[in-house]
Amino acid sequence: MSNSANKSFDKIILDWKLIQSELKLKLGIDVYESWVKKINLLEEFNNYILLTVPTRFIRDWITSRYLDQILQTIKKHKKQIIRIEFKVIETKDDNDKKSFDLKKFDDDKKISFIKDSHLQYSRIDPNKRFENFLIGFSNKIAFEASLKVSENISSYNPLYIYGGVGLGKTHLLNSIGHEMDKIKKVMFISAERFMYQFVKSIKSNDMVKFKDYFRNTDVLLIDDIQFMNGKEAMQEEFFHTFNALLDKGSQIVVSADRPPNKLSRIQERIKSRFSGGLVVDIQKPEYDLRRKIINHKINELINLYSDKLDITDEIQDFISDKISTNVRELVGAINRIVSFSRIYNKRPSLSETKIILKDLLNLTENNVTIDSIQTIVCKFFKISKNEMLSSRRSRYLVRPRQTAIYLTKILTTKSLPEIGREFSNRDHTTIIHSVKTIEKLKEKNPDMNENINKLKNIILYNKEG
Ligand code: ADP
Ligand code: MG
Repeated sequence: MSNSANKSFDKIILDWKLIQSELKLKLGIDVYESWVKKINLLEEFNNYILLTVPTRFIRDWITSRYLDQILQTIKKHKKQIIRIEFKVIETKDDNDKKSFDLKKFDDDKKISFIKDSHLQYSRIDPNKRFENFLIGFSNKIAFEASLKVSENISSYNPLYIYGGVGLGKTHLLNSIGHEMDKIKKVMFISAERFMYQFVKSIKSNDMVKFKDYFRNTDVLLIDDIQFMNGKEAMQEEFFHTFNALLDKGSQIVVSADRPPNKLSRIQERIKSRFSGGLVVDIQKPEYDLRRKIINHKINELINLYSDKLDITDEIQDFISDKISTNVRELVGAINRIVSFSRIYNKRPSLSETKIILKDLLNLTENNVTIDSIQTIVCKFFKISKNEMLSSRRSRYLVRPRQTAIYLTKILTTKSLPEIGREFSNRDHTTIIHSVKTIEKLKEKNPDMNENINKLKNIILYNKEG
């Protein structure tokens, strides 16, 4: 082999744009917009790469939060990379330009304290509205609470919506913003951006404007509050803003990936404020809702492209069945199938579908269902599923049943009542009792602990031992 061939083999050139877009999928649009987008690839070495960022603050922020995920993503493209280095290269803030462009619009804006603030803070996506939010058992309560808030007929204040990633929280916040924007001053901001702006305004001595801006809004929508784990001073400011707004009767809506009491690094008094209004959750979409969303999405795309797309019922069933973690993935899956069908101008077969969606279907989390847990636990303890689900209390059935319940609790995001339902309509207090019992036994009894670990391994990785 010639020398030059060797060389070019060594030097795989990373496609930074591609890596960024993968990170966008992985970390979400807000993280992407606030941080990832600002990173550039400067140089690629054998086992490390040099990235540039515009400020030290951004560098520190990224290093403390996203470095692992960035490295993982890069490694997918180039295994040898074991380290990332940053260089701060200050660029002139392009916000200067924006604020200039915005001047002429500013008079129309309801708020005009900071020239470019509306662009920076409020990013209401007109495509996410109540009308295209499909409702099912798993999201109905959150939907209805949001609707009431937007119609200004509730006293839910604050409204706190929580649930896993890709389940529709941002969509709901957007819908509220979209509705209320017609008559009120609305501010929609992610917690990350709130922090970023907070720090930025301290640096540029704009704190007064910052405060005024936030305290002048009628409706404050804060997305992904779990990311607000910042400095005391910021939490202090947040707390006061929060109170000032509630005092003057402004509506506050907050979203998070967990309930208020599970937020880490947020002051107790803020958490207790969150719990003081209405707290609702969004669960993973149930089969029927998934089926509904798929169907709706396909029709939407048919209208959009005025194509005759043919995605068979078999395939729609298959996707609804296999992609159960969240709506975002579901929508992504449909987009892929539809693109395939348009590019090749053919109706995809089931086996083609499996190939197109391979990476999504392989996600371990997808395969962890209550049903699979029950099957595996039954096999492990050599009892039948009927026995497990029966109401019989023989000791040889009780432990396996409790074990299955415990594993469902820790390996899925199902709520207690949901788990109860899947175990022959047992009450949620029974579920709590089972979980606690196993937790205690695990501590006292090494055999139990080992069994649980074995089972976890089988459930998660199909591996014995
Ligand atoms: P989250 O903020 O909870 O992570 P998003 O609101 O960003 O989730 O939702 C992810 C994607 O799924 C978005 O494209 C959103 O429009 C879509 N989506 C979520 N829930 C629904 C729903 N019930 N009906 C229609 N689309 C939905
Ligand atoms: Mg979101």
